Order: sequence, then structure tokens, then C-alpha cells
Amino acid sequence: METPLFEVADVFERGVGETTDIVEKELFRLAPRSDDRESWALRPEATAGIVRAFIQHGLQTWPQPVKVSLVGPMFRYDRPQAGRYRQFWQWDVEAVGDPGPAVDAELVELGLRFYRDAGLADVEVLLNSIGDTTCRPAYVARLTAYYRSIAAELPDLERRRLETNPLRLLDSKDPSMGNVNLDAPKIADHLCEACAAHFEAVRAHLDALGIGYRIEPSLVRGLDYYTRTAFEFYRRGAEGQQQALGGGGRYDGLVELLGGHPTPGIGFALGIDRVILALEETGTPLVAEPAPIAVVCGAEPTGTTERLRVATILRGEGLAVRAELAHRKLGRQLEAAVKEGAQFAVILGDELAEGLVQLRDLQAASQKAVPLADLPALLRRKSGERAAR
Ligand code: AMP
Repeated sequence: METPLFEVADVFERGVGETTDIVEKELFRLAPRSDDRESWALRPEATAGIVRAFIQHGLQTWPQPVKVSLVGPMFRYDRPQAGRYRQFWQWDVEAVGDPGPAVDAELVELGLRFYRDAGLADVEVLLNSIGDTTCRPAYVARLTAYYRSIAAELPDLERRRLETNPLRLLDSKDPSMGNVNLDAPKIADHLCEACAAHFEAVRAHLDALGIGYRIEPSLVRGLDYYTRTAFEFYRRGAEGQQQALGGGGRYDGLVELLGGHPTPGIGFALGIDRVILALEETGTPLVAEPAPIAVVCGAEPTGTTERLRVATILRGEGLAVRAELAHRKLGRQLEAAVKEGAQFAVILGDELAEGLVQLRDLQAASQKAVPLADLPALLRRKSGERAAR
């Protein structure tokens, strides 16, 4: 799914939550024109826009769950620093309409597989359950009572937040909160039966997949529509606030909050910039774009009409080919094709008039005449062999 880069700010204010940092401090608001009553903002994350679209376009009538993904830039007004940008990229995945618990584990596995395929070993998932509207209010009341009992020790900002969103104190960035939070009541000890059973089942599914995880009691998403499963991905040993590689969770109350029928959902967002930074730090090469199967070259340096025509025929057959469009000698054209990692050069010469081209295997440095008409099938077969290797 592609959602707009900017929307009515209300979608994010309600969908992400008024009392989050993302909305309170980081929302990139667009200056309205004087006659504009609506207020607009650049999207800071994808879930709110996806859920807004799910409701607006009637996706609740589709077979459930609706699974969508989105890759694109997100915007947050913050002081730029390493790993924290004002425009950054996320890969976002959502499964709307599935209460879990199996899909919760499916998403965690998908996230971990992405890191592994990207070349990042050693990514760990931190996991928690944050309960639901049945059990969380009583827990939040206990938590509030705990913080109130030590209010004098709390930093000013946290004392203020205590009145608007006490859960946020648990993942406070203030170092002095570390010890305070060690003694705070843990949500895991206060889950209702249904939430406890759900959490146990998520863990059983992860165990069955052989996925290790660490239960992290301070991992919360301090908003009412977030429910049950919450998770974050970190590189082992790199667990600072700036270093989350991704995170996600269940939001069984969000569709209703944005005006739809009650519908469970879960999703995650992975920070692509941070993955690339981590790959650079660990010296892991980025996955290279595959080389074209063939480069269309020619004996006549200026013969670009024919080279482009033949390349277009091959591309129309679904083959990844490059056309050599520079006016240079054949030897130089072939050198460039070898350097690029192409497996073949299709060389055009006079025999094209009889429907023949030279197919040169660049690795074996062997060459034979092939009818142009047979070329797509032949290259497709070679392409398949290469993919299988
Ligand atoms: P969040 O919605 O804040 O949980 O973000 C999900 C992921 O996006 C984080 O785990 C980061 O990897 C990435 N991310 C969030 N904010 C930024 C930013 N300002 N710059 C780069 N990456 C970010």
C-alpha cells in the first residue's frame, strides 16, 4: 500500500497519540494558508495512514486479515544526529483483522528474517505484553500510585507526564529513571487471563520456530489502543534509545479509534537507514543489484538504433539487459560488460540483416551465431540457470 506523504494532522494526532513524542515534539506540521481550516502534517510513521485507508476504502469487507506493506520515507522534526534523521526510510508491515497469537509470531519471524537476509547477524527481539483494556487500567493505577509515592525523586518532565501518560515513564530516556523503574510494578504480573494466555501462545509459537527472545518488562507503548504484544529489534550489545532497528506491536483498539468497526491488528516498522548504518559498522557489504544477463553491443560504434531496438525486444520478454549506448569501439563495450558482471554480450553486426546475432559468453570468452528469434528463450534459460546457482 502507498499512503500519502502528508495527511490531515488529525490522522496522526489520533492514530499515533497526542501524548507521544512523535506528535508532541516531532510532527512536521505544514504551515496552512490563511483560508485553510484544516491542519496538515508529513507522515511520521505508516500505521495511522494505513488504518485510515483501511476504513475509508472499506478494506474490512475484504477477506481478513488484510496484510499490507509499505516502503517509504517518514518525517520527524527532531535534532538530526547519527541514526536519527528528519527524513528516514521505513519498511512497514501490517496484518489487520487477525487477533493472533500466531500472526504475532509470524511478524516477529518476518522482521528477523529481513535482518538476516540483509546480512545483519545477531539481531535480537525484545518482547513484552502490555495487556488490554480489561487489565491495563488496574495496572496503570498501581503504576501511578507507585510513582506518586516517590514523586519527589522524579525529574520534572516525568512528574508532569505522570498525570497524562504514566506508562511513558517506564521507557523514559532520563538516566535517573533507571533505578526508579527497576522497582516499578511489572505489567506481566498484572495481565488478565486472556492476555496472559495470548502472551504464552505467542511465546509458544516463537519457541516452535526456534526463535530466541528476551522478555523486556519496560517495553511499553503508552497508548490505549496498543494491546498485548509489543516488540523491538536491536543488535545485541547495541541497545541504546537511538539504536532500535525496528519495533512493532498489536493495536486492537486503533481501527475503532479512527472510526471503523472494532478490528484487531498488528504491525511493525523497520528503520532502513539504521539497518544500512549497522551494515556499514559491521563491515557487511550491501546486497548488490544483480548484473544484467546480457549487454547488447555492436561492431559499429554509432549503431545505437539497432542496439536499443534489440534490447527493447529482450526487455519486452522480461529479460534484464543493458543496451550499450555510448559511441565507443566494440572492445571497450565488451570490457564494460565484463566489468559489470553481465554473463553475455549480444553483438550486432552485418549478419543482423539475415536475423543473426553473435552471442558471446563473457566468462568462457566463446561466441556463436544465434538467430535473433531464438535469443529470448535462450537467455531466459540461462537466466534461470544463473538464478538457481
Ligand atoms: P518507531 O515508530 O519510532 O518505533 O520507529 C520504528 C523504527 O524506525 C525505529 O526502530 C528506527 O529504526 C526507525 N526510526 C525511527 N525514527 C527514526 C529517525 N528519526 N531516523 C532514522 N530512523 C528512525
